[in-house]
Amino acid sequence: MGKSAEPTYLVNEIYPAIQGEGVHAGDHAIYPDCRPQFIEAMQAAIRLGTDSNLQILAPFVYWTKAQIVARGAELGVPMALTWSCYEGRKRHCGRCGMCVERREAFEVAGVVDPTEYEDAPSEEGPVALQGA
Ligand SMILES: [Zn+2]
Repeated sequence: MGKSAEPTYLVNEIYPAIQGEGVHAGDHAIYPDCRPQFIEAMQAAIRLGTDSNLQILAPFVYWTKAQIVARGAELGVPMALTWSCYEGRKRHCGRCGMCVERREAFEVAGVVDPTEYEDAPSEEGPVALQGA
C-alpha cells in the first residue's frame, strides 16, 4: 500500500464520514494509489468493509502541482506554511524529489516561492525518494 492509502485507513477510524486526499495528477505515473481509479476503488472497498457511506474527496486528483500553487496563491493560502519535503527536517531539504517538484510548481505557476530550503537544487538531480 502506498503513501496515500495508509492515511485513508487511519483517518477512517477517526472520521468515518468523509476523507480527503491531497493526491495530484503529477503523481499518477509514480504512485498507483494516487490515481483516480485507486481512489474510487478504495472508497468502494471501505464502504463495503464498514457498511458506511464514506466519501473520499480528492479535489486535486486531475490538477498539476503548478495549478494547485496558482489556485492557492489566488485564494491567499499561506504557502510558507504548507509542507512537501520527505526528509522530516525542520525546514524543506531542497533536494528530495518532493522539494524539486515544489520548486518547479512555483516556477511554472509564476508564484514567488516563500519556502526556506536548506539546500540549493542539486545539479545532479533529486536524491532518491524514500520508499521508491
Ligand atoms: Zn525535501
